[in-house]
Amino acid sequence: MPELPEVETTVRGLARYLDGARLARVELRRADLRRPFPVDLVQVLTGATVTGLGRRAKYGLIQTDRGQTMVFHLGMSGRWRIEPEELGPHDHLILETTSGHVLALCDPRRFGSVDLVPTDALDQWPRFAAMGPEPVGDGLTARHLKTALAGRSAAIKLMLLDQRIVAGLGNIYVCEALFRAGIAPLKPAGRVSGAALDRLVPAIKAVIAEAIAAGGSTLRDFAQPDGQLGYFSKQFDVYDRTGQPCTRCGSAVARFAQGGRSTWHCPRCQK
Ligand SMILES: [Zn+2]
Repeated sequence: MPELPEVETTVRGLARYLDGARLARVELRRADLRRPFPVDLVQVLTGATVTGLGRRAKYGLIQTDRGQTMVFHLGMSGRWRIEPEELGPHDHLILETTSGHVLALCDPRRFGSVDLVPTDALDQWPRFAAMGPEPVGDGLTARHLKTALAGRSAAIKLMLLDQRIVAGLGNIYVCEALFRAGIAPLKPAGRVSGAALDRLVPAIKAVIAEAIAAGGSTLRDFAQPDGQLGYFSKQFDVYDRTGQPCTRCGSAVARFAQGGRSTWHCPRCQK
């Protein structure tokens, strides 16, 4: 499942082909993904110039000179295919630039989405309006977490997965950041000390930044025919390492179910 770093990598890759480009052809090859494509998508995008690309949480943003931004989510299995040799049954949206580049949004399970949102109202778009700060950049601070988590009895791990607290932080990166900060995933959020939150914020920024950097290294292959964007493997400290030695103390990494997902942690290093 594409997480924030994969979406960031995808957006950076797409920017190489789309930033400043004019869209000569826009083709929808079915009516919907998770929900219907906007009825005016083809009309709005055809002939439009892309004026910028960006990301908010796990959404990619393709801004146009028509006052509308195409907002895409990759869902469980979505990815963009660059210059596909031939189109497949899961290529649902095709963008072709006037310089002949072809980009296909491929989504076999169709949990993704595409929306058109007025660019000057992006912050008020319902899916963005209540979102917390981005985990990278200046938005996320220990002060924000102290305020947002004060008095909360829910587990710190579940609070960090709440998009209203921090935007776009997924299971992998929450597990990794809590490990680095030495915080037990079950600890009630309101009882995490200020010192621990001071460790947590740079840990979150670091795990995301490292994953983006690892993703960036895959961009080398980006221009290959059928090059896939947005997936890469990275070595994690605890994520998906049940029973393997903790990278810090050597005791076994443990897994348990929490909020319907798996949590991995080192019971000795995380308090
Ligand atoms: Zn350990």
